[in-house]
This record gives sequence, C-alpha cells and structure tokens, in this order.
Amino acid sequence: MKQEIIFIPLGGGQRVGASCYYLRIGESNVILDAGIGIESGMEFEPDFYSLVTSPFVQSMSQISQIFISHAHMDHIGYLLKLMSQTKHASVYMTEITKVLSAYQLYDRAFIGNRASDEDTRLAAQRLLENIAPVSYLQTLNFGKYKVTFYPAGHIPGAVMMLFETGRRRILYTGDYSLNGTMLTQGCFLPEGLDIDTVILCGLHAKHPWYSKKTDAMYQQVREVLHCVETGRQSVLCRISQLSKGIEFLKVLNEWNTSQVPVYLDGSVMSMIEKMEKLSVPVLKPGNRIKGSFVPREPHVYITAEGGGGRGSYHCVRVDFSLHEDFGEMREFIKKVNPRQAVVVHCGKEKSVLDDTIEQEMMLDGECRTQFIFAEEKEIYRL
Ligand SMILES: [Zn+2]
Repeated sequence: MKQEIIFIPLGGGQRVGASCYYLRIGESNVILDAGIGIESGMEFEPDFYSLVTSPFVQSMSQISQIFISHAHMDHIGYLLKLMSQTKHASVYMTEITKVLSAYQLYDRAFIGNRASDEDTRLAAQRLLENIAPVSYLQTLNFGKYKVTFYPAGHIPGAVMMLFETGRRRILYTGDYSLNGTMLTQGCFLPEGLDIDTVILCGLHAKHPWYSKKTDAMYQQVREVLHCVETGRQSVLCRISQLSKGIEFLKVLNEWNTSQVPVYLDGSVMSMIEKMEKLSVPVLKPGNRIKGSFVPREPHVYITAEGGGGRGSYHCVRVDFSLHEDFGEMREFIKKVNPRQAVVVHCGKEKSVLDDTIEQEMMLDGECRTQFIFAEEKEIYRL
C-alpha cells in the first residue's frame, strides 16, 4: 500500500536556526533534528504547537523516532527538551555526534564552576545516555520504512539520511559539504540511488554571489601564529562553535613549525580526546591543558569559555563558514537529480534581484528537479 508522506518544518524553514522537521511516513511520526536559534540576542525554539494542533499528532508522546544529523546547536540545541517531552521516542545519531552533543548540551552547561541544580544535571545525563549510536552506511528497519545513514562531510559525525518506504526515497541532507574539510571527507552517496525527494539544507540557496572562502580560516591561523612568533604576544582564540575550534586547532598544529606552545581549556581538551578515540586525530604533543595559571612564554590559548579577565592576551574570535556554497549546491542537485527538492535552513536573499537555486537550475536542460521553498508550520504532502 502506498504510504502518505507529510512534511512540516517546525523551525529552520526560510531562515537559519532551530532546524526541526516533522516527517510522517505512513503511521510513523518522525522528527529530523532539534535545534535552537538566536535572533537579535534572543533564543528561539521550534514550534511544536503547530504539530500537536495538526491533524497528524495529538500529543508529543506519539513521536516515535528522532534522528539528528550533526552536532551544531541549530540542529541539537533543543534536543534535551524534546527528549523530556517525548517519552516513547528513540533517538539516533552517530557516536561522534554523541560526543560533540554531550559536550555542548551537558559538559559546557554542568561541569566546571557554574552552580547548577543536581536533579537537572542527572536528568540531562540520563537522557544523553539513552541515545542510540548509528554508523555510516548502517540501515535501520522500522517495518513501514527504513533509514540509511551516509557521511555528509561538513563536520565530523555528520550524516545524511535516506528514508525508504515502498518505492519512495527521501533524502534529508542536514548540513553537508561536497568537498572535504580539514576533518572530514566530502559527502558520500552511492551511485544510482534514484532519489525522489531531497529535503535540502540550503543555507545559500538564495545567495548566488556566495562562494566559500576556504582561505578565511588559514588567514586567521597565519595571523595568530605571526602575532606570537614575531610580536611575542600571547593570543586567546575564543571559539563559538566547537567544531570550528577543532578544525582551527588542526590547521594551527600543522602550520606551527616553530613549536609555539598551544594551550586548551580543560573541557575542550577532554572532548577532543574522546573524539580521537573515535579516529579523528587532532592533537599534537605540544597541545596542553591550561590550568588557572597564565604561562609566561608567548603562546596560543584556545577556549570556549566566555567571560572577562583576559589580562595581557590579544583576543581573536575564531569564525569561518563550513557551509556549501551556491556552486556546490548546484553540483549536488545535478548529481542527485531528484524529482523534487524541498529547500529548508535557507538564509534570506540579500536583494530581490538575486537568483535562487531554482532559477539557476532551470538553465540546466537535464535537471528535472522542482523546487519548494518550505515555510515553517506549513503542511507539505511529498
Ligand atoms: Zn551545521
């Protein structure tokens, strides 16, 4: 029997942040990602009210599976809340995403000198322990549908998910990169999958002028090393997204030929050590934990901690983009050539004159893809 497939963006539709999507396959109520977003300093969450007032779900306890694509806050920030509301749902992500998520959702919030209430801490810990790890190319069979996980590139542990039911094939990309990064290979999909629908995280789908500046990170690394080597000045590198900090450290280690000492804060170090056990090599012998003392010799200090008291450091905010650009998106759609692309996680256009990926692909005679720019809380029948 043909299964009805319903899609509702609960967050992260035509804006970035709070990525969270409802997918109904037959009788199964599935959630893809559970992020939070920040706009003008205010945090915002996915809108589950629109789901429980829809014809498909009456209560959060009817959600059966939650799949997480990767460990960025706009895809995992809401997860603990969601898990506490959906008692019967099982949650799936890769082992590396689990390590990175535990760090961002738990370690950073509860470990260290911040006062926190013990019950909340234990509840968070129990929830994280209940997440089921999956691996690349693994298929889970839920009877009415099955799902396979493919490497998405982007950051370590990131997956694309292919849902199959009857003859229908639906791919949720999560954030992906076509080409390799310092820590990951590019995304991988086998040939000939014949995918009907791609739910596409298209951050730059309305930004034809955007092309990835792969040199932004290298430039930052060069400046930091120059400041320490030549200026004899210690540099504090504050990382906002954890994975960017790791990527930054990897390049720094490779370029650090004059053995400038590199210190990390304790929680970042312990998380990287866990990742190394999962075969993501990052550390070099010169990488050390910085305790409460400030080393005398000029050095680099990488930290995720906010707050003041930076003393004599020159401070740098580590930031660069790991997202696919317009050209890569075009290449990806051309390769998969789905019947339908549902674009979500989509940044606003900068000008009405900018072409979207849809207009771009119309110029390609071989492209059969129809585009939907999915709005939050709208119901789509795929
Ligand atoms: Zn991401």
